Amino acid sequence: MKIAITAWTAFTPLDVIDHAVVIVEDGRIVAAGSREAIDIPSGAHFIELGECILAPGFIDIHIHGGAGHDVMAASRDGLARFERSLTNYGVTSYCPTTVTAPLDATCKSLAWLAESSRSPRDASRARPVGMHLEGPFISHAKRGVHPPDKLLAPTPELFDKLWEAAEGNVSVMTIAPELPGALATIKAAAEKNVCVSLGHSNATHAETNAGIAAGGRHATHTFNAMRPLDHREPGILGAVLSNDSVTADMIVDGIHVHPDVVKLFLRAKGIDKAVLITDAISATGMGDGKFRLGGLEVEVKGDRCEHNGVLAGSVLTLDRAVRNVQQFAELSLQQAVRLATLNPARALGRDDLGIIAPGAGADFVVLSPQGEVQRTILGDFIE
Ligand SMILES: [Zn+2]
Repeated sequence: MKIAITAWTAFTPLDVIDHAVVIVEDGRIVAAGSREAIDIPSGAHFIELGECILAPGFIDIHIHGGAGHDVMAASRDGLARFERSLTNYGVTSYCPTTVTAPLDATCKSLAWLAESSRSPRDASRARPVGMHLEGPFISHAKRGVHPPDKLLAPTPELFDKLWEAAEGNVSVMTIAPELPGALATIKAAAEKNVCVSLGHSNATHAETNAGIAAGGRHATHTFNAMRPLDHREPGILGAVLSNDSVTADMIVDGIHVHPDVVKLFLRAKGIDKAVLITDAISATGMGDGKFRLGGLEVEVKGDRCEHNGVLAGSVLTLDRAVRNVQQFAELSLQQAVRLATLNPARALGRDDLGIIAPGAGADFVVLSPQGEVQRTILGDFIE
């Protein structure tokens, strides 16, 4: 059956379509345009959204959990609760993200996530689009709260072990390019089309450029857990901010990075290379208290998550990140939406996500003109 979704405006997000109509069949977009330009098939079922903005569903490529669930924990109920909570924030796709843990525990979590990604789901649950390995291949100097005794020197063999445990469902790997063995490991991951993301790193400018030459193409929570910018040794920040072939993400919660640095980041990367992430942990949506991040205990007070006084993830949601970046960097809502849709999809190398165009998956978020989530629609389940 063909479905015609009508809205006041659609952000594709490259273009704005006024009086928009999007035709969907079998979970895919078959046509999108203005009411004047689109022939609505006879017998189509209508979803009329009224005075709203239709945009591609949000994609979070760095998230550890939410609604009380940590993605490394093997709980079916917890995972379902977490994935349902994501749709409240407009997220339709996400990369479950591991933190450094004993290698066997990480492999077990990856195997469980691979298995559970095949379990039946419904219209109320966001779907995983490959895992993000955050650790163990990160720098001791810039480990944040990752446990120091569990960090490992990267090798292609260790990467293969993680890849196999995840049954090949690895979309992103964060790695510090200066570590011995990093360049060969980056090459091995890039050959499998993993988005190799440089981060948790104390790399010099030259070490970072070597990582980019080996296949690194993205940067993880830019500014956080990175060697600070120095004007004579610009380090990893100078390299990733000035290289137009590198995309980069940021936690725009107003805590991890100062609003003016968010603005600078957008000026450096432009609205086509900047990506919003949450780095959210199990505590998201749960209020203050003590929560898990992998094997760590994290204390949450307001919007701050800390482990022994060090920032440990966030309780940010992607819809808030969109509204924050709009304000901090003085963007339009259309531009801000791009940072949570098309740009993360491109960072993952997915041209079927994050865009309203024929052939793309029919995942949508419906926003108010102020960017508040009104509704989330998952393509496979439209009725
Ligand atoms: Zn993280």
